[in-house]
Amino acid sequence: MKKVLIMEDEENIRSFVVINLRRAGYEVLEAATGMQALERIQQHPDVGVAILDIMLPDMDGFEVCRRIRANNKQMGIIMLTARTQEMDKVTGLMTGADDYVTKPFSPAELTARIDALFRRLGGENGATSELLSQGPFIMNTRNHTLEKDGNRIRLTQVEYSIMKVFMQNPGRALSREDILSAVWGRDFEGDLKIVDVNIRRLRIKIEDDATSPTYINTVWGFGYKWGN
Ligand code: CA
Repeated sequence: MKKVLIMEDEENIRSFVVINLRRAGYEVLEAATGMQALERIQQHPDVGVAILDIMLPDMDGFEVCRRIRANNKQMGIIMLTARTQEMDKVTGLMTGADDYVTKPFSPAELTARIDALFRRLGGENGATSELLSQGPFIMNTRNHTLEKDGNRIRLTQVEYSIMKVFMQNPGRALSREDILSAVWGRDFEGDLKIVDVNIRRLRIKIEDDATSPTYINTVWGFGYKWGN
């Protein structure tokens, strides 16, 4: 699912955006401050588009934009501006952002802008690194799909994220903590058993024989390893 982050301190506007973007089929992450936005993006590097309000309690939206751009040139960034802000100044400060939307805006306008950025992301830049291929498996990181021998395997978001961690780290023993923080985020305070539960389900979906797995191997007392 296409992932969008909305950073806005005003709760009314934020939840309005969240509701409408979810309805439009996006997975939506929320942030009320600049710091929260940067943390969310660190935890979810696959955010495709970030919507950044300019006036925030801890830093301004342009600063957040600058910090995102320092590590990520690909993400689409839309600034939310107020009508009272002088447009010259806004466009001058826009370096690094892709687009801006002036408040008040309609949900249709915002989704149209977001869709346009996703189309661009899927264009020439996205085309090169979107396929991960190993053995019988092909993962398309743009569409979030996995195929085995050309057959589509239906995965949950979590299962997909675990597979991606494996396919990006072939032959490397990954601890359950590594997998937990890569998939659920560093701040997640859940039980490590959630990793085992998901891997058990994933094996049923991807292994030839889930009772003697050959792709997702157990590293006893430590974690798991993709391949040998
Ligand atoms: Ca604000």
